[in-house]
Amino acid sequence: MQTLIVGAGAIGLLTALNLAELDGQVTVIDRQGAGLESSWAGGGIVSPLYPWRYSQAVTALAHWSQDFYPQLADRLFLDTGVDPEVHVTGLYWLDLDDEARALEWARRERRPLSAVSIEATYRQVPALGAGFERAIYMADVANVRNPRLVKSLKAALAHCPNVTLREHCCAQGFVLEGDQVVGVRTAEGELRADRVVLTAGAWSGELLATLGMALPVEPVKGQMILYKCASDFLPRMVLAKGRYAIPRRDGHILVGSTLEYAGFDKTPTAEALESLEASAVALLPGLEKAERVGHWAGLRPGSPEGIPFIGPVSRHPGLWLNCGHFRNGLVLAPASCQLLANLVAGKAPIIDPAPYAPDTRLSPAQVS
Ligand SMILES: Cc1cc2nc3c(=O)[nH]c(=O)nc-3n(C[C@H](O)[C@H](O)[C@H](O)COP(=O)(O)OP(=O)(O)OC[C@H]3O[C@@H](n4cnc5c(N)ncnc54)[C@H](O)[C@@H]3O)c2cc1C
Repeated sequence: MQTLIVGAGAIGLLTALNLAELDGQVTVIDRQGAGLESSWAGGGIVSPLYPWRYSQAVTALAHWSQDFYPQLADRLFLDTGVDPEVHVTGLYWLDLDDEARALEWARRERRPLSAVSIEATYRQVPALGAGFERAIYMADVANVRNPRLVKSLKAALAHCPNVTLREHCCAQGFVLEGDQVVGVRTAEGELRADRVVLTAGAWSGELLATLGMALPVEPVKGQMILYKCASDFLPRMVLAKGRYAIPRRDGHILVGSTLEYAGFDKTPTAEALESLEASAVALLPGLEKAERVGHWAGLRPGSPEGIPFIGPVSRHPGLWLNCGHFRNGLVLAPASCQLLANLVAGKAPIIDPAPYAPDTRLSPAQVS
């Protein structure tokens, strides 16, 4: 069997790694270098920002992935020498409006989230800004250094004899035989395969539109800023009013993010910079004097309720989707890609695939 994967972000690369373990050849294409879009731009929190506000469909993928991340990181490090730096710091949510709902969710889902005194929070995070009144804390939340994750996935694929990564190869549309998808068209000609998996992030909708299908995946711009501090400046992740600070092991601190519906424009703006800097200083006043070393924007693959599309498209045999992970593509990646591989192999799925099935979520009105 030949598989062609369109889009080499975290989702495409990890899909390739999982499918490489089945039979056959796997080719991954990307219209630029691998992993330079959302999977590079994200913060890498290995949890939805407010997990209790999501549906069970997102929770199921998130929990499977969270449990699997340490294993994945160890395997990638061992196989490639590139450490994706899964950094378990825990996460404090400050002054939440829906704290009771969060605690009730944690009890139900058996997650280690609990209310903590604000005094204890300030003791744990001495750099925290003044004036916060309440906190809840989940001890096992990690962040992954997503550019390193992508690098290690790419290196792992380079070790797989049955995988080819073709960068700077843009899919322009699909090759059909009847309704069957048998490949994609590129500037260099047709690339044929027995199955095509669409993992093109925010651009997945554009590509499906060439088949006359309206996939509700749209770009949602997010801007981030990056500081460099001493490695002990921030021992935990902190989040208030939708803005968060993430410490990397070496003292880099990411502060994000904006949520903007601005089409495919990913130009960083002065307005967002000002707003992110204000949030950064409110959370961690020491950042006012810290060196700011980066400001960028990425395009999340926005989808209804953030529920990704995973599985076959029965209207076009041979076509599979793994896209639309919105704000949670890094945390959801391991489960999404394992689920897709289970479905491709016809094996018992790790979780119920029904909520992600493309067929049931593309209503007739959306199919032209
Ligand atoms: C500011 C910000 C903060 C975030 N924070 C987090 C977080 O803390 N935790 C978390 O879990 N998630 C986070 N996310 C979301 C996460 O980054 C995304 O959900 C995830 O990276 C999506 O991965 P992907 O592989 O589907 O898409 P992408 O990484 O965007 O990859 C899609 C790939 O497809 C390629 N492509 C597109 N069109 C074509 C074509 N026609 N032919 C060939 N290739 C094509 C692109 O070049 C790209 O490389 C954040 C995102 C942003 C922007």
